[in-house]
Amino acid sequence: MVPMSSYVPASDRYTSMPYRRVGRSGLKLPAISLGLWHNFGDDKPLETQRAILRRAFDRGVTHFDLANNYGPPAGSAEINFGRLLKEDFLPYRDELIISSKAGWDMWEGPYGFGGSRKYLMASLDQSLERMGLDYVDIFYHHRPDPDTPLEETMYALRDIVASGKALYVGISSYGPELTAEAAQFMAEEGCPLIINQPSYSIVNRWVEEPGEDGDSLLTAAADSGLGTIAFSPLAQGLLTDRYLGGVPADSRAAAAKSLSGDMLSEENLTMISRLNDIAQEREQSLAQMALAWVLREQGEYGVETVTSALIGASSVAQLDENLDTLDNLEFSTAELKAIDDVARDAGINIWADATASRRHAD
Ligand code: NDP
Repeated sequence: MVPMSSYVPASDRYTSMPYRRVGRSGLKLPAISLGLWHNFGDDKPLETQRAILRRAFDRGVTHFDLANNYGPPAGSAEINFGRLLKEDFLPYRDELIISSKAGWDMWEGPYGFGGSRKYLMASLDQSLERMGLDYVDIFYHHRPDPDTPLEETMYALRDIVASGKALYVGISSYGPELTAEAAQFMAEEGCPLIINQPSYSIVNRWVEEPGEDGDSLLTAAADSGLGTIAFSPLAQGLLTDRYLGGVPADSRAAAAKSLSGDMLSEENLTMISRLNDIAQEREQSLAQMALAWVLREQGEYGVETVTSALIGASSVAQLDENLDTLDNLEFSTAELKAIDDVARDAGINIWADATASRRHAD
């Protein structure tokens, strides 16, 4: 028996969050979405997880992003989310966009990694079971796989949509040429890819760089009708005040998971401190400036270049601070230049090898 939930969502939850259209699809996502990569495994208290999810929904965050392997241990974020969904959010299922993914290592043997039909189909079934759902709203291929023909992965995504187990499909960490190729393939199949999920932040701008065909990923995706949801827009916490005065014991860096010590080099920390000064002049925190920057108007697609900033948060206070970004999304030309003068690549794109593992002509 599921205990009766005491949770009543805020009645004003749709008054302040902007929702942006995902590429050429009919779907809209909140400008800020919440990811469950860290902070939702069995190593974190369930009540903190519950509080973060409730506050997010209360403030208009309708999109929760998961993957098969989120935890630790892998799979536990989906189990914990499934439990909280059942206890608190089931009456609001139709107000939520829940995503999952497969592509990185999940189980032993040759069928628990990559982009094969075998892996994707089995993994989605497992994710649905863990979350207690009949379908996810978005299912992603999590990373390019050099060993699987692109057609096989795309046919699997198409058939997943046809089966009703995902409403929409997308790709993550694909480079510009492969994105364009995959998008064209799926358009011909009548099952468009709607979304692209790359890493992107002030200190990790690979999506802006021209690929082999001259187009950046941001342009290639938008030209192909895909929206872009930018993950790790805070560079895993580097672009916040978290590390300005040392490494807090409860931080991601201290846990030595995905944010390694060399990412906190003196050079990076000096840069972060200077970016923090610019943020303060804007009367924003560094985290808020970093999120506003990812969502800024740029290029020929303006404010639609990035549909949503996909954040993580280990507390309600962090989440609240991040959502307050929406109070000021504007930048002057001088502010953007000041940021560019200080910012350089921080060497934190740990997904670059996956992107490079497969290109258009491979
Ligand atoms: P962020 O760059 O937003 O980093 C989140 C971390 O930054 C938090 O856990 C917290 O660290 C710190 N933080 C957040 N807000 C604040 C604040 N206001 N003040 C101080 N510190 C703050 O994103 P993530 O790296 O967590 O990624 C977000 C989501 O993107 C993931 O959950 C996942 O859904 C998706 N993702 C997808 C990938 C893919 O391959 N497709 C890969 C990686 C992420 P601390 O824990 O130290 O408090």
